[in-house]
Amino acid sequence: MKIAVFAAKSYDRQFLTAANAVFGHQIDFLEARLDADTARLAQGYDGVCVFVNDRLDAAALRILADGGTRIVALRCAGFNNVDLSTAAACGIAVVRVPAYSPHAVAEFTVGLLLTLDRRIARAWARVRENNFALDGLIGRNLHGRAVGVVGTGRIGAIVARILRAGFGCEVLASDLTPDPALEAIGVRYVDRGELLSTSEIVTLHCPLTPDTRHLIDARTIAAARDGLILVNTSRGALVDTSALIEGLKSRKIGGVALDVYEQEADLFFEDLSNEIIADDAFQRLLTFPNVLITGHQAFLTEEALTSIAQTTLANLADFEAGRPLTNAVHAEAVVRPGTRQA
Ligand code: NAD
Repeated sequence: MKIAVFAAKSYDRQFLTAANAVFGHQIDFLEARLDADTARLAQGYDGVCVFVNDRLDAAALRILADGGTRIVALRCAGFNNVDLSTAAACGIAVVRVPAYSPHAVAEFTVGLLLTLDRRIARAWARVRENNFALDGLIGRNLHGRAVGVVGTGRIGAIVARILRAGFGCEVLASDLTPDPALEAIGVRYVDRGELLSTSEIVTLHCPLTPDTRHLIDARTIAAARDGLILVNTSRGALVDTSALIEGLKSRKIGGVALDVYEQEADLFFEDLSNEIIADDAFQRLLTFPNVLITGHQAFLTEEALTSIAQTTLANLADFEAGRPLTNAVHAEAVVRPGTRQA
């Protein structure tokens, strides 16, 4: 198939090119992000391959359909950036990589938590300046702490297991469907309200849906324990950024580690070191000493990139051969309250 890979980075080229030795697709790599302004670049391509911050809204999808594109291959798990109803109406199939390496994201999540809570990034910066003073670097043990895991699917379950079995945390969890294997190791399922009000640390691993958008907002922050540590490696819009900033200013929130950010599409995956950042909320977040931000990096391991490339190209090969699309996403797959994600 003739495929246009949008928002292509060096690692996309490297891993997709290596995996394509088996599949033999004709792949062109484009730096542009896919949106309504750039969709015409896909004219004449059977398929487009996109990532989390490409914007496949109705306008972009109609341009793709007019240009002959028949399939959108997401090289990620989330699909909240695709208007699935319009894709279906235009006859464009949408496929994704539902699971590539949940360990990559889970391990990074725990790494972020430790880096924040044990002041490791601050210590690293100090030592480089020959400052070996320890004042201001006091952390807390994870052992025995109450950690709430929101969403115990592929990634959340591994995080819960690492924290429970590895660190000896008291792990609370909330999910639409409890996982008996986690309950067997002492993870306790509670409703989301109880989780958010009793946990010392909360880590988010549920998808972004109408039910979970701004799950962390002024109300939940007010009800949280003083000094709450929040970790989000799932999707930025699970957290209301303005409420988060207010929570940090009032010291209600004790620390925040983010790998995702509500308005990340304007920032992440690009080198903006010589640019003026216009996002005041993001800039404000960076000023807090107890905020740690990475740029949507949790997935970035060799294992995950290999798996993503192989599954993406296999999805396209299945489409070309008319085989069933096991990794297709449909409009009805969007999670509504009370249903489990497909
Ligand atoms: P998953 O589908 O395996 O698990 C999600 C879990 O959340 C499911 O068990 C589901 O039942 C649960 N859930 C759904 N709605 C809920 C709600 N309202 N309250 C509580 N739980 C709810 O997904 P996953 O593979 O574990 O991925 C989790 C999220 O991580 C994805 O949605 C994606 O946005 C994000 N992600 C981030 C990165 C990164 O690099 N930062 C990489 C991959 C995935």
